[in-house]
Amino acid sequence: MTERTETSPQRTDVPAPLDAVVVGAGFAGIYSLYRLRKDGLSVRVFEAAEGVGGVWYWNRYPGARCDVESVDYSFSFDDDLQQEWNWREKYATQPEILEYMEHVVERFDLARDITLNTRVTDILFDEDSLLWTVTTDTGEAVRARFVVLGLGPLSNSNIPNIPGIGDFAGPLLHTGQWPHEPVDFTGQRVGVIGTGSSGIQSIPEIAKQARQLTVFQRSPNFSVPAGNRDLTDDDRAEQKAGYAERRRLSFLSGGGSPHQPHPHGALEVSDDERRAVYEEWWQKGGVLFSKAFPDQFTSVEANDTAREFWVQKVRAKIDDPAIAEQLIPTDHPIGTKRICTDSGYFETYNRENVELVNLRKAPIERIDATGVVTADGRHHDLDALVLATGYDAMTGSVKKINIVGRGGRTLNDEWAAGARTYLGLGLEGFPNLFNLTGPGSPSVLANMVLHSELHVDWVADAIAELQARGASVMEPTNAAVEGWVEECRTRAESSLMSMADSWYVGANIAGRPRVFMPFLGGLGAYGEIIGKVAADGYPGFEFTAS
Ligand code: FAD
Ligand code: NAP
Repeated sequence: MTERTETSPQRTDVPAPLDAVVVGAGFAGIYSLYRLRKDGLSVRVFEAAEGVGGVWYWNRYPGARCDVESVDYSFSFDDDLQQEWNWREKYATQPEILEYMEHVVERFDLARDITLNTRVTDILFDEDSLLWTVTTDTGEAVRARFVVLGLGPLSNSNIPNIPGIGDFAGPLLHTGQWPHEPVDFTGQRVGVIGTGSSGIQSIPEIAKQARQLTVFQRSPNFSVPAGNRDLTDDDRAEQKAGYAERRRLSFLSGGGSPHQPHPHGALEVSDDERRAVYEEWWQKGGVLFSKAFPDQFTSVEANDTAREFWVQKVRAKIDDPAIAEQLIPTDHPIGTKRICTDSGYFETYNRENVELVNLRKAPIERIDATGVVTADGRHHDLDALVLATGYDAMTGSVKKINIVGRGGRTLNDEWAAGARTYLGLGLEGFPNLFNLTGPGSPSVLANMVLHSELHVDWVADAIAELQARGASVMEPTNAAVEGWVEECRTRAESSLMSMADSWYVGANIAGRPRVFMPFLGGLGAYGEIIGKVAADGYPGFEFTAS
């Protein structure tokens, strides 16, 4: 493959093209570099952050940890790696996951091809050379035959446009852009806006430290205790001995972990059995609770049984019934927004130093130098304000880059009415450009580490196929894209998932088209589909020689 040529500011000649540019150094980008380099390609990774890790570099807020068990939320591509690494807790903390990712980068000597502190701004296709030119905010421009976008579905923070937000005099912290130095809330009056997964993880930790915590809640969320605990040597030995089977089951499963739902629907079993099954999945912890019965996302009645079980459990945790009432969601079926995974979240509202402010009753009017003003005329005095307000998800980071394909087509125009992909991977008009774990793929509905591996392996195999055919570019046809968009739409409509005003449908960002973005059907079914496309010679893609 093409020789890699180092660029330096002194050079005046144009560097030889690379085989591939990867954007992003989270799980997806790290594995892309490993696999494509292993296949003999010259690769460079550009990463906006000062370090690798993606989400786990940025999200350093108190309480941040994964909601898929550590043993599953880790790379499977190298058995020595998974045998050597010792996870400390059932759900690893952010520092532990970051340590793991840095270890992977070092172990496989990846850092030499990763350029940090560098944001990709433009990706332009040249139809004569059939090469992409990737330009960065440091002024560097490199050419490459292939571009792999590992930008992450949750990497573009949503900073709400609340009047006066810029006037706040104390620290204003978004969970996804948390400072590197420890933030000490001791003795402070702290506000948290947002009660999604990030808010629900951080609120119990902040409450332990702050003098007073005010939680500004617009929508309550379903959350299930993680049941987190330290792993013992015996746990680790058992997990490592069972890794092969664990991974096999995970790749076949809906969510990318080795758990299978009950064989019958929630309404097909007796009340006692149903309660026992819910109890079992409650004990498994967190987001898994949405996977107890196979019909939880297709039948409102079945979903109601899960919701009622959840309500009973949660009411019992909260001392004040009036507060409990406000913490129980009534606006969406359980699981149609990602179920949060907590450690003592609801119990936090039993503390003397915690106040719940219900923004449905009195919305935020403005922020000023010393706090938040709500519509009931109250001024909530604050020393620090945490924005746990989420992300412009799935397409936000892609749209920030000026991506121009064949015939001057821009990705922003192509996606104006909703993302359009073939298999979630290929984009018509954008040859040899692959988008990882974004819209049109299971994405955030599955364990994203294994999902990244599935995607990267597919892309690497497709590139190998292209080379074997002596082709220069591959690109999906318009018909294939249309078909896949329709497939995703039909699946979404036959499920309860699109009923919620979630970030899965872009409802959290004003002005976004409302389209359910992930592929519904599970990682296993999706893997089968894209695997069959590869095995059948890539129908839906056109391969063109130069
Ligand atoms: P990311 O980790 O988001 O990495 C993308 C990288 O691309 C970022 O570092 C970003 O700086 C960089 N980037 C973006 N744009 C540019 C650009 N223009 N130029 C250069 N660099 C750029 N998923 C799970 O399956 N299980 C979990 O437990 C889980 N927990 C999560 C917890 C939090 C707090 C969050 C926010 C998400 C969580 N997720 C979880 C989802 C998470 O997005 C994925 O698990 C995974 O980390 C995504 O990896 P990635 O490499 O695709 O993207
Ligand atoms: P989120 O789920 O989008 O939650 C954002 C919260 O902020 C919501 O409660 C939202 O209210 C509120 N909000 C947004 N703008 C607001 C405004 N202007 N005024 C008042 N409230 C406002 O974001 P997130 O909590 O960061 O989680 C995003 C995803 O990241 C998760 O679903 C999950 O996939 C992943 N994640 C996982 C973990 C984990 O446990 N491993 C932890 C964190 C994140 P509304 O609902 O009313 O819009």
